[in-house]
Amino acid sequence: MYNPKSLKAEEFISDEEIRATLAYADENKNNIELIDSILEKARPRKTDKGTFCSGLTHREASVLLACEIPEKIEEMYALAEEIKKAFYGNRIVIFAPLYLSNYCVNGCTYCPYHYKNKHICRKKLTQEEVRKEVIALQDMGHKRLAIESGEDPVNNPIEYILECIDTIYSIKHKNGEIRRVNVNIAATTVENYRKLKESGIGTYILFQETYHKESYLKLHPTGPKHDYDYHTEAMDRAMEGGIDDVGLGVLFGLELYRYEFAGLLMHAEHLEAVHGVGPHTISVPRLKRADDINPDDFDNGISDDIFAKICALIRIAVPYTGMIISTRESQEVREKVIKLGVSQVSGGSRTSVGGYAEEERPHDTEQFDVSDQRTLDEVVCWLMEMGYIPSFCTACYREGRTGDRFMSLCKSGQIQNCCHPNALMTLKEYLMDYASQHTKDVGDEIIMKEIENIPNPKVREIVIKNLKEIANDNRRDFRF
Ligand code: SAM
Repeated sequence: MYNPKSLKAEEFISDEEIRATLAYADENKNNIELIDSILEKARPRKTDKGTFCSGLTHREASVLLACEIPEKIEEMYALAEEIKKAFYGNRIVIFAPLYLSNYCVNGCTYCPYHYKNKHICRKKLTQEEVRKEVIALQDMGHKRLAIESGEDPVNNPIEYILECIDTIYSIKHKNGEIRRVNVNIAATTVENYRKLKESGIGTYILFQETYHKESYLKLHPTGPKHDYDYHTEAMDRAMEGGIDDVGLGVLFGLELYRYEFAGLLMHAEHLEAVHGVGPHTISVPRLKRADDINPDDFDNGISDDIFAKICALIRIAVPYTGMIISTRESQEVREKVIKLGVSQVSGGSRTSVGGYAEEERPHDTEQFDVSDQRTLDEVVCWLMEMGYIPSFCTACYREGRTGDRFMSLCKSGQIQNCCHPNALMTLKEYLMDYASQHTKDVGDEIIMKEIENIPNPKVREIVIKNLKEIANDNRRDFRF
């Protein structure tokens, strides 16, 4: 029986409820009156305390996803853009993945790390190699990482992951430092989540891959990841272990997208119902070609248009949840979905273990083919030329604004006095320390213009002073 408050996977992600949702969505996909009322409910409302959005339930959002009426889809896109502007302004947070180890005991049929793959070169970074990777990432200008690892209790136990996190935070090369480490490792115990929290991680990210249990069991035929319930209930254990920023995701291409979309929103509703705070982020990876993996072997690939519609509807349904896109997607697709709702992008990524310290892009340990192969400088410049502010900000979790406290900031209308100045100051650091001359010129012009968009005059004054100190006195790490 469907129960969003239950702690049992099969009750909060109820197959019966998803099927009923899809049937309801099909019945109503041309019901203009209902569609209009759903769009109306999702619109941002301005009050004297700030702008509010109510979001949508999985049923409501599924009706919009099923709707194929072109004018209504245009309205969805316009609404997604409006919500994005209201809560995220024109800021785009920048991060990079760091692959620690590709040893893995699981048998995931879509992932090149699966244990049966004998032609992939297995590699696990030593602490000295982590150091080299981090220095290379700092020299590019990165401040925020997502660490990635296969699951292998012998080669990559939690102690290894914790040691790597300590190493990453300890390295201060020139003006560089990694200020936030997000973690994408396999589902684990409450005790291990507690250890991760104590080591100072930002978000714990775990992709569900698919919410369809029967398919999940086939796609993960062997290894600890085969346990659907343990995997699906991981975020509840993470929250029990004290991690209140968690990141959800589906690997699109494995199952029918409408099923996954409803499951993803039900998962978000479950976290809100049980823990009082929804997911901090949602990632939208699509299945890619990789060593031993041909995406054509999977039947459920989605077009770029459907992908954009999914991104827009996630933005509308869970307005306070950040949305992440990786370099799995091309520049063209990234451009489209950044407009519709994506708030974080990776740049200059290498998906191979040890890839950043190498001159050439190494393919022998790569997790998937990277579509967007531009350098970080190119990505930063591209964003600015489209009118966005690339942000290297990591202030929230360092100021204790995680979980519901972060959500309160979003809802308080203070973002423009907090996130916006932080974005400008961290961008200025990037321009001073790492940017090419052209990027610097473009960036300085944007900063000058954007200072005017800080509503509180006192905050504006402080920002102007801090920007001068960043440029002239080599001061770093100012934040609100
Ligand atoms: N091993 C961890 C786990 O079990 O969740 C997570 C780390 S894994 C390096 C990160 C993610 O990459 C996986 O959760 C999966 O969604 C994604 N991935 C695996 N194979 C992929 C492929 N061929 N194309 C795109 N993404 C893939």
